[in-house]
Amino acid sequence: MMKFLFVTDLDNTLVGDDEALEKLNQLLSQHRQEHGTKIVYATGRSLALYRELLTEKQLLEPDALIAAVGTEIYYKYSADSQDEPDPIWSAQLSVGWNRDVVVATGANFADIVPQPASEQRPFKVSYFVTERAAEEVIPRLESLLKERGVDAQSIYSGNKDLDILPRNSNKGLAVQFLREQWGIEATRTVVCGDSGNDIALFSIGEPRGIIVGNAQPELRRWLKANPADYRYLAKAACAGGILEGLYHFGFLL
Ligand SMILES: [Mg+2]
Repeated sequence: MMKFLFVTDLDNTLVGDDEALEKLNQLLSQHRQEHGTKIVYATGRSLALYRELLTEKQLLEPDALIAAVGTEIYYKYSADSQDEPDPIWSAQLSVGWNRDVVVATGANFADIVPQPASEQRPFKVSYFVTERAAEEVIPRLESLLKERGVDAQSIYSGNKDLDILPRNSNKGLAVQFLREQWGIEATRTVVCGDSGNDIALFSIGEPRGIIVGNAQPELRRWLKANPADYRYLAKAACAGGILEGLYHFGFLL
């Protein structure tokens, strides 16, 4: 067995089936010990909400945490320290980004509701939008941002979360940044997800991809339009689906 880079979304991907999670944790922890496999979580959560999850669920300590939909990368974070995300990554994201303009532009739209303060980050402005309003509002917001000179992208997930991020950041680009740093090829990388903000995980480079059985409609639609033999739609949900995919690709025997 060889080491690999294991990247997973948290909510409704790694987390959601406690029994399967325990089994997966055991196998991954052993693989990391024996072969140096790296474990990375890529979540929409801020560091604060990630810590909240740690009090509720048994999670392995990852080698890196990609937080806030790919806009922050942490390597070490303890409850009592002041945690700084990777400054090189942050510097890359600041090019062409203007947070104040994004916030002011978003305020023009009645249908998008700001998320709580903890989820508003230096490189992420987050809203709630209903599925019905999303189709009409998001393109209008995007073109207004472009008019105002902000190099941004919007990511819609789970039929409710709308994140506005710098153009050159998302979960997939953050994984690519780590891969380059650690010298791990896409073919030795496996990424797992369930919703729209995970699409970038699957579409940047050609990593092995596991879409869990409980995936959201937007990710299923994307997979249907972008099928590949290195993308696997699991039958089982959450960690059970991840296990299924890891066996499918031969990362676990
Ligand atoms: Mg998720």
